[in-house]
Amino acid sequence: MKYLDEFNDPELAKRLVDEINATATKSWALMEVCGGQTHSIIRHGIDQLIPNVELIHGPGCPVCVTPLELIDKALEIASRPGVIFCSFGDMLRVPGSERDLFRIKSAGGDVRVVYSPLDALKIARDNPDRQVVFFGIGFETTAPPNAMAVYQAKRLGLTNFSMLVSHVRVPPAIEAIMQSPSCRVQAFLAAGHVCSVMGTWEYPELVERFRVPIVVTGFEPLDILEGIRRAVVQLESGIAQLENAYARAVRSEGNLPALKLIEDVFELSDRGWRGIGTIPKSGWRLAPKYRDLDAEYRFDVGDIDTAESSVCRSGEVLQGLIKPHECAAFGTECTPRNPLGATMVSSEGACAAYYLYRRLQVPEASGVG
Ligand code: SF4
Repeated sequence: MKYLDEFNDPELAKRLVDEINATATKSWALMEVCGGQTHSIIRHGIDQLIPNVELIHGPGCPVCVTPLELIDKALEIASRPGVIFCSFGDMLRVPGSERDLFRIKSAGGDVRVVYSPLDALKIARDNPDRQVVFFGIGFETTAPPNAMAVYQAKRLGLTNFSMLVSHVRVPPAIEAIMQSPSCRVQAFLAAGHVCSVMGTWEYPELVERFRVPIVVTGFEPLDILEGIRRAVVQLESGIAQLENAYARAVRSEGNLPALKLIEDVFELSDRGWRGIGTIPKSGWRLAPKYRDLDAEYRFDVGDIDTAESSVCRSGEVLQGLIKPHECAAFGTECTPRNPLGATMVSSEGACAAYYLYRRLQVPEASGVG
């Protein structure tokens, strides 16, 4: 397929691997921020080809980091009579404190899988006597379509549509990771699709403040190898810069119409990240003029008690402190069919990637020396 096959060329991949291995004279620890990149790395075995580079899997899977409290709020709303609860499919099996959306659907709740927030909007227009709620989760990438759905609902005067919002942002997460006392990350591969929306203007300040290289990177094997190569060259040279290795999709200023829409519909807010905790100004909520479309207010689900699994170590996985197969439940108590944590449910979760691509054993020597 044009535009994809050329980023899978094995000859070019081998050349990049050789170049990385020749350049890396000592051990380096890089974090790929995005769960899509994690899957590509594990699927293609990229991490096993570059012995001096450890790839730490970051918290860039939106399903994985959606806080338990919000999952429980979604479950509470979805189980109310008269509600049609719309969600992307990978949220259905994410465990809340006691159940998941799938169980609510099995028990008769009207939970529907949609492929776009605009599908939910259409359901609302077709069902004026029902309350339709869309579960709007995600990083910056899904913010424009979610913002568009809210904007359209307001414009159309729909009083039976609302959104349960859990949007998170990458730059504050990088900041929190770098400020953690246990941080081992020496460079970041930033998520290309996030930067295609937001641009790269938020990153120079982080590069400067933490003296950490950040390379904006795509998702195909050659994209990832090129991102790693550029980061390793910087580390070996003792420099820290922002580089854009995904120039075919990313401009420094971002997608200006999308940014304008996001700015209109959302406002910055503190956000809880599952397994990590609250990161200041790391998310968005609906701006005051759209507050009547906020499902948290409409359904009054302010205070909810939550209970995390005592077994699940996804918080440590999400911070790159352990690899998934270092969790005792991995592949035994916890599998994609019976997930204990969101990192095993989501198609972008690190635990699911390790399970899917058969990384079932802890290697004898892991970690950066
Ligand atoms: S393997 Fe399962 S229980 Fe262990 S950290 Fe991953 S999701 Fe949690």
